[in-house]
Formats: sequence, C-alpha cells, structure tokens
Amino acid sequence: MSESYYKGYWMVTNRCNLNCGYCVLENAPHQRKAELDLNAKKELVSHLYHQLGFRRLTLSGGEVLIIGKKPPSDFIELLRHIRTFRSADPAKNLEIELYTNGTYLDDNVACEMEGVVDLVAITIDSADNNFLTDIGRNNGRFKNYYENIIRVCGILANRGIELKLHSVIGQKNHLTLPGEVSSILDAIEKASAGVSAWKFYQYMSYDAPEKDKFHAISPELYQKFKEETEEALTGRNVRLHFKDNEEMNASLFNILSYGNAQYMRANDTWSTSQRTGDLRTYNSMSELFAKHEINETLFRRFHEVLR
Ligand code: SF4
Repeated sequence: MSESYYKGYWMVTNRCNLNCGYCVLENAPHQRKAELDLNAKKELVSHLYHQLGFRRLTLSGGEVLIIGKKPPSDFIELLRHIRTFRSADPAKNLEIELYTNGTYLDDNVACEMEGVVDLVAITIDSADNNFLTDIGRNNGRFKNYYENIIRVCGILANRGIELKLHSVIGQKNHLTLPGEVSSILDAIEKASAGVSAWKFYQYMSYDAPEKDKFHAISPELYQKFKEETEEALTGRNVRLHFKDNEEMNASLFNILSYGNAQYMRANDTWSTSQRTGDLRTYNSMSELFAKHEINETLFRRFHEVLR
C-alpha cells in the first residue's frame, strides 16, 4: 500500500482526429503501434491506483475518446473500469479529469461520464473561425469546432460535470484572445453552462524550430497577454491559471500511451527528457524514484495529493 497519494497526467493515446499546427504528437506508425491496448490500459489504471497510490488522473491525448476501432466504445469501456475505483471515501476515490477536443462527445458519452469524470477541460484558442481553420481545429469532417464546443459545454453542464477551458497562447492569438474571452464565456452561458476555471498555456517549444517560428512567444509578450486577459475577465468568477514554460518543465511527468513516463531533469529540454520503464513494473513510487533521476521533492510539489 502506498504511503502517499499522487496525481498524474496520462496521455492515453497519441492518435487525434484534428491537426493543430502547434501540436507535437508522437504519432509515427511504430509509436502508434506501441500504444497499450485496452486491457493493458485497464491494467495500468489498476496498478497506478493499487501499487503507486494515484488518486487523481488526468486523461489526455491525442484525443482520448477515439481510442480503439469503433470510437467511443473503448473509451466507454475504460470509463466503466475506472468507475470501480470511485468511492465516497476521499482516501479511496480516484478523481478523473478529462481533456478532450469534444468532437466525439455527445449525450450518450456524457451519460457514461456522469459519476466518473469530475471535470472536463476543453481547448478554446479563439472564437474566430478563420483562426480555427488556420490552426487545424476545423479539420476534415470535424468542422465548426467552436460551435461544437459550445454545444458540448451545454451537454456536460446538463450532466453536472464541472467545466474548464484551456487555451494555448502563441504568436497567432496572444493579441486577439484577450478581446474574445468575455464573449466566449457569454456564449457558454447562453448554452446554460458555466466555466469554473480557465488555464492558459504559453506555447512550449518541443525543440521543433519549424513550429516554434510560427508559435513561440517571449515571456514578456506572455506576461502582457496575462495582464490583458485578467482585466478582460475581471468579475467573471472564473479561476485563472497562467502556466508559463518554466512551470511546464518543472512539473513535467507525463504518463505516456506506451505505459512509461516522461520526465525532465534540471537542465533537460524536450528532446533530452528521460523515460521510465513501464510503470506496471514498479511496485512503489519509492522504487521509481530510486531507479530514476526524478527529483522527488519537485515531483511531490506538483503531484502529491493530500487526503
Ligand atoms: S486536438 Fe489536441 S491532440 Fe489533437 S491535434 Fe489538436 S492539440 Fe494535438
């Protein structure tokens, strides 16, 4: 039994149905092939819970709802497995956050999520359709990203699921988004939904210069964006979190779709970041810390949950 409890960010799949310009997914054929299958995904959840003490998981991707051959059926089966770790006792309960692009989220899926998923975070980088097309969010048959997201917010609110927004801030939207945030909240409220929190991520370099040149912004421009956005959202009763690159690197511990985890040592960049073995092979977090150069103090600062 674990002595401490933890939270983790799990990139359940590297597959996605959209094609955002700033996204760096490891989705080459050999990487997609290495993704855990559904049974292994369930085993990983059980192991994280029982052996490693995880009590909060953020399910992310890629796009989690498209796992398996007939989406969203595998996702629903995964949810049903996770439901077995839900409990009224906070020390036993497994809390779940879900990050999704919303394209496969309908009322049937929301019904399965009820009582399992505590919070859903949806990405909105802009309300402008031209911007969304340019960035790759209006991809193929998944057009009208923005309208769909507003609809999904209403569906989730109807099921009593807490709603959070995410935005990635880069060259293309740092000047325009502060002018849109208030009307985005208005549109969501018009769909009978409410947003509890909004998290803004400074575009992070993945050591890919060809992407960085279109998206990277300086700390100064990000700070200016922060000030303008805070002002625009004054009085809207939404918790704001502005995550800069420094915080992103310090907190990085990504459970990958292969079952291992990615972490950074003090001077690592994305391309020198380290990988653990398959997490199902460690019997405790102490064993994981002992076998890898993970800064335990930093890890606990960002990933320990107190119950
Ligand atoms: S929706 Fe998310 S995972 Fe999919 S391409 Fe866009 S940023 Fe990447």
